[in-house]
Amino acid sequence: MNHRTSFTVALAGNPNVGKSTVFNALTGMRQHTGNWPGKTVERKSGTFRAGELSITLVDVPGTYSLEAKSPEEALAAEYLTGSTCSPPDGVIALCDACCLERGLDFAMKLMKKCPRTVLCINMMDEAARRGISVDCEMLESLLGVPVIATSAGKGEGLTELKDKLCRLLCGDSEPYCGEALTPKELCRLAVTSTGEADRRDRLLDRIFTGKYTAYPAVALLLGAIFFITLRGAAPLSDGLSFLLGYPESGAKSLLNAVNCPRSITSLVCDGILRVLFWVIAVMLPPMAIFFPLFTLIEDLGYLPRIAYNFDSTFRHCGSCGKQSLTMMMGFGCNAVGVTGCRIIDSPRERLIACLTNAFVPCNGRFPVLAVFLTVAARGKGNLSGLLLCLAVAAGCVMTLAVSKLLSVTLLRGESSSFTLELPPYRLPRVGSVITRSLIDRTLKVLGRAAAVAAPAGVVIWCLGNIGVGEGNLFSLIADALSPAASVIGMDGVMLLAFILALPAAEITVPLMLMGYTASASLTPTGGIADSALLLSEFGWGVKTAICAAAFTLFHFPCSTTLITVHRETGKIKWTVAAALIPTAVGVIICAAVNLIFP
Ligand code: GDP
Repeated sequence: MNHRTSFTVALAGNPNVGKSTVFNALTGMRQHTGNWPGKTVERKSGTFRAGELSITLVDVPGTYSLEAKSPEEALAAEYLTGSTCSPPDGVIALCDACCLERGLDFAMKLMKKCPRTVLCINMMDEAARRGISVDCEMLESLLGVPVIATSAGKGEGLTELKDKLCRLLCGDSEPYCGEALTPKELCRLAVTSTGEADRRDRLLDRIFTGKYTAYPAVALLLGAIFFITLRGAAPLSDGLSFLLGYPESGAKSLLNAVNCPRSITSLVCDGILRVLFWVIAVMLPPMAIFFPLFTLIEDLGYLPRIAYNFDSTFRHCGSCGKQSLTMMMGFGCNAVGVTGCRIIDSPRERLIACLTNAFVPCNGRFPVLAVFLTVAARGKGNLSGLLLCLAVAAGCVMTLAVSKLLSVTLLRGESSSFTLELPPYRLPRVGSVITRSLIDRTLKVLGRAAAVAAPAGVVIWCLGNIGVGEGNLFSLIADALSPAASVIGMDGVMLLAFILALPAAEITVPLMLMGYTASASLTPTGGIADSALLLSEFGWGVKTAICAAAFTLFHFPCSTTLITVHRETGKIKWTVAAALIPTAVGVIICAAVNLIFP
């Protein structure tokens, strides 16, 4: 009998079997989950109570073997075998009931190293839906270790799991004795399947990974996501900016009531709050639509198929297929895309993906691009739509071109090989999709953007309100920038607006209008068509609009993305490179357009 009351237990298994879900359910913590291998690349730990015991649960990165091949596998193997620290007191080996044989193969190797193991067969609900049944009692008697069936997504079986774990840790049940049939034989005896779901998966794969259908499917899906995001975000943004007008005017009344000096009231309300609320109103709705949609296809199991489809294209550019996933996240928000680069194992390829993520336009730049391209199309809706598609395509092609350039210059090296398991298609769990996408992706990014928006509000307010001669500081700097801006087909106001929109690209157009109307604070713009009309009235021709669109597509990413690059790479030089590389491309393209077209 064991009298200890605190234990450390590792949670281990193949990638994508539900480890993070079990971890979150047991510890009450919140780790990112998603239907594709390779999301959990760090070891996380949390504590929970089971009866009298206090158990520290360590979520080990998903791995297929204990012979380390990738960084995750090295981390997992080191911990589980106790080669660099003391080994855990027990292990929960997690398997997916839908592909038990592969899971058992690893679990049984694990049991040999760590005999105090509870075998947890997860995804029993999914298995039932796929016509698969697993006889856990039989497995328990064949293996001689405690076996529990769970559906962690629904919280089913977890109490039993805690119970059996307690008993094992207290020495009341037997550890693995190392004598069992092989995984194939065990599955033959304990698993029955109708095969229906496998046939359906194969059919879906014929479409989603087929030679002629894979790319159109990705294009259609992305197109649909953009369409829903853009259509849905506009009225939500309008509503939000209307609502946020109340706190702005409330703050103004309050400051007036306490006799605050007028300049301070204006700085706080027209400067800080105006920019802050603007950023929230324009950033929140598109992200709150895009990320749940993206997370939905993540849960469905489609993302690894995209990586698989694009792998050879990216390989030709010295990178890997997983970069396509980081690009897709980048369409939502480049900061999220850069964080997403963690899924790429090779440090060289990860850096390439980080440095080129801003070549795909994020949600923030989409409406700005739409305004400029509407000016370029002279208000013709179909033409501007076509131009927008071309802009997205240009962003993708440029990502590949610059990745290739980096891989033969600064970041030279061979493409790495990686095993990418294609998980079974699963019905997404809507509740978890919404919380995950809103909390992990949307709100985190919004928080970082808001932190930069407030000081930017001060700067913008000072530029608009500090008078210099006839005009203000804004016009003085815009005039000073004019000669440089004219080389790239723009004027000083435009260039200054791009620079000041560093916290969030969404404020580029209001900043331009603020410059053109010589007003002291951000100017409301109305919808895309209204903004385009206003810019045409300020003398924008087709060439100016094209240069503005090209520069929107290719210039330094927003401050949130740059902060994220710095956080991910830990190096100032790579942060500077992430800003300079797209800017250099934008300058070259705009200067060429300016030279070629009269
Ligand atoms: P990990 O890679 O092992 O950490 O796996 P995750 O915890 O991220 O889970 C992978 C996917 O399976 C996610 O989409 C989860 O929502 C889903 N999932 C986890 N457990 C269950 C379950 O018991 N049933 C079903 N249907 N889905 C689950």
